[in-house]
Amino acid sequence: MNLILLGPPGAGKGTQAKKLEEKFGLKQLSTGDMLRAERAAGTDLGKKVQAIMDRGDLVPDQIVIDMIAGRMSQSDCARGVIFDGFPRTVAQAEALDQMLAEKGHKLAAVIELVVDENGLVDRLNKRVAEMKAAGQIPRADDTEETLRNRLAEYRAKTAPIIPYYEKTGLLKKIDGMRAIDVVEKDIAALVAPQESRAAQAK
Ligand code: AMP
Repeated sequence: MNLILLGPPGAGKGTQAKKLEEKFGLKQLSTGDMLRAERAAGTDLGKKVQAIMDRGDLVPDQIVIDMIAGRMSQSDCARGVIFDGFPRTVAQAEALDQMLAEKGHKLAAVIELVVDENGLVDRLNKRVAEMKAAGQIPRADDTEETLRNRLAEYRAKTAPIIPYYEKTGLLKKIDGMRAIDVVEKDIAALVAPQESRAAQAK
């Protein structure tokens, strides 16, 4: 079973993807995490995307498409994938459709976490303050200015994929402003019937 978690930065996609991993044995594929790993390893790709990510801009489509294509064929993705932070443009969504079709796989659902932008800025400021209080260093792109740019990127380039998935009937909207465990229960209620259908089909 393959799912997409959609929503602006800070909507809680990563948190919910981890819960779905545990509950349903799926694999979270976060392009943001993969790009940060490239940076941490000091690869050429990591160096190329560093400034783009720190500004909060999107990296070029082909970079993330190639990363996802390589990762999806690994054995730990066999039970299915939760795409977290991918696709972020219509071109990425089209490439994903093609990749899944080539493997004979389908998307079970696209779950949009619907959130309020001002609420996200408050969440970010709270999280950064908590990290600093705990002696941790926040990410370079965890500033209000960068978040505002990332939200603008989301509105301009990612939000257009919502009608793309609405047309397929796969889009499910979930209010992401509620407590983590409440959102988690709503997502699980959506995913569980799909998962049992997928298991029966095997
Ligand atoms: P994230 O952790 O998903 O918010 O991603 C952090 C940053 O990585 C984003 O602000 C982008 O610069 C870059 N990034 C992650 N995923 C993508 C994607 N699918 N397309 C383009 N850029 C991405």
